[in-house]
Amino acid sequence: MLYSAGDCPVCSRAGDLLFVRDPITRRIFFYCPACGCAWTSPPPPHTLDSIEAIGVYAPKGIDLPTLSDIVANGMEAAIERSPDDEEWVWALEEILMINVDADTTLDTFSLR
Ligand SMILES: [Zn+2]
Repeated sequence: MLYSAGDCPVCSRAGDLLFVRDPITRRIFFYCPACGCAWTSPPPPHTLDSIEAIGVYAPKGIDLPTLSDIVANGMEAAIERSPDDEEWVWALEEILMINVDADTTLDTFSLR
């Protein structure tokens, strides 16, 4: 299951601010697979104040937080929608860390 905080400030409706996580620090951050930019918190709509490469936040790759992970971090209010896995798996599979944590939702992806 993917969770999105809404449209990307860089590519707007073509992107998604996906909730992702550094599996090492377990810190949740936001990543747009369409443009490859990452944010520590969801930027206000159509406002571009900072852009970082994903490697800044998760140098070894990412995993995907579950809804309970997001709730545990108090970030559930930022969830705007839940995109289909199929919509972004093509862009995520290269940076997903596999077998990092048994309770991630990686098994919901059909990795090709
Ligand atoms: Zn984007």
